[in-house]
Amino acid sequence: MATLLVKHATLLVTMDSQRREIADGGFFVKDGIIQQVDPFSSLPEKKADEVLDLSDHIVLPGLINTHHHFYQTLTRAVPAVQDSNLFNWLKTLYPIWAHLKPEDIRISTQTALAELALSGCTTASDHLYLFPNGSHLDDEIEAAQQIGLRLHASRGSMSLGESKGGLPPDSVVEDEDYILKDSQRLIEQYNQPGPGATVRIVLAPCSPFSVTLDLMRQSALLARQYGVRLHTHLAETQDEEFFCLEKFGYRPVALMESLNWVGPDVWFAHSVHVNEAEIGVYAHTGCGVAHCPSSNMRLASGIAPVLKMIGAGVKVGLGVDGSASNDSSHMLAEVRQAMLLSRLAAGVEGASRSSEAAQPLMTARQALEICTLGGAAVLGRTDVGSLESGKYADFFAINLNRLDYAGALHDPLAAIVFCQPVRVDFTYVGGKAVVSESQLTTLDLGRLVEEHNHAALRLLVG
Ligand SMILES: [Zn+2]
Repeated sequence: MATLLVKHATLLVTMDSQRREIADGGFFVKDGIIQQVDPFSSLPEKKADEVLDLSDHIVLPGLINTHHHFYQTLTRAVPAVQDSNLFNWLKTLYPIWAHLKPEDIRISTQTALAELALSGCTTASDHLYLFPNGSHLDDEIEAAQQIGLRLHASRGSMSLGESKGGLPPDSVVEDEDYILKDSQRLIEQYNQPGPGATVRIVLAPCSPFSVTLDLMRQSALLARQYGVRLHTHLAETQDEEFFCLEKFGYRPVALMESLNWVGPDVWFAHSVHVNEAEIGVYAHTGCGVAHCPSSNMRLASGIAPVLKMIGAGVKVGLGVDGSASNDSSHMLAEVRQAMLLSRLAAGVEGASRSSEAAQPLMTARQALEICTLGGAAVLGRTDVGSLESGKYADFFAINLNRLDYAGALHDPLAAIVFCQPVRVDFTYVGGKAVVSESQLTTLDLGRLVEEHNHAALRLLVG
């Protein structure tokens, strides 16, 4: 039986039902599960196999990333698409991504997860929807296991090539029978449905403009047969809205309703262009949303109505999105972007006028809650997302004595969101260190960066 004692945290942010923020906090962990969270002086156990003294640190539940494309870390800041909108960005990048090999999937998975772990993330969802040159989702799952974060690996798919009216070139789409067979194999081989899961499989046709409606229907049937979740991009841009209206006669959300692609087991990335009635559909059916503020800004897609969704009772989590449209996998930076972008939207709508009717602004605490409790709800996890007894000990800690927070320590929790996002000092998953004293414990970062740059160069230059 392995035990861990965390002691003397300057501020321990629990995200429990009372949202306790405990000064000089601590918690005791047995076999990866938290037994008690309280002021350190109230903890009965004062010894453990591992004792972690977090004096001068703020401690929070691990951040949860609900949308990413790890492989895109190989194509960050590509000159030809630095200033493109989504459809042009995709059309230029598809042929580059068509050169991906299994080793590229492995390297980019580790790079993305390293960045995530160093920015406080403990559970990451990824959406891999291209499998060129013998690549498989297995490459990603195996590479992720070496790092130690929890992974929700989405078996993505594209089946509607250009010749059939889709956006991607025919060279990167797959046969639908094969997609479904491979999806079933992956669920049976890897999906861990119970608490403490380190790998879960998700079925994730890429978007309405890259798969057939039949594949959407069949994927939903298969997912529900096995009790795994469904995920796709939805209502990301106006181009997509026009595409759906022209091709199917529906707006994106109505299209999903017509396909039985709504429910508590479904979450959508983006949902920028949703009206009040569509937000009502999400709330009523239990659909979740992965809000990706940096990507939406980078591709000029628009601003998702996050506070309206939350106000209506929609589950909202945060996603850094793929690294070709964020160019970073910094989870804490994304929390900051979510808060700032929401405030920009409020300002544009007139909330900054000092009138009683002004709508409230997103707070730092709210932004962190979206990225912890919100993310857990979106991914359907009740075992992580807060620090309380019975939950898995997924957490991160930041040393508060640093230049970045100087002058902000009257509210350390606000400081980590309002001030410049930093690398974290400790990240633990299930009571085990993945980051310790700002260093990854599970791999050699220097070698990984070298391999990654080599792979990226080969992909772009050939
Ligand atoms: Zn995406």
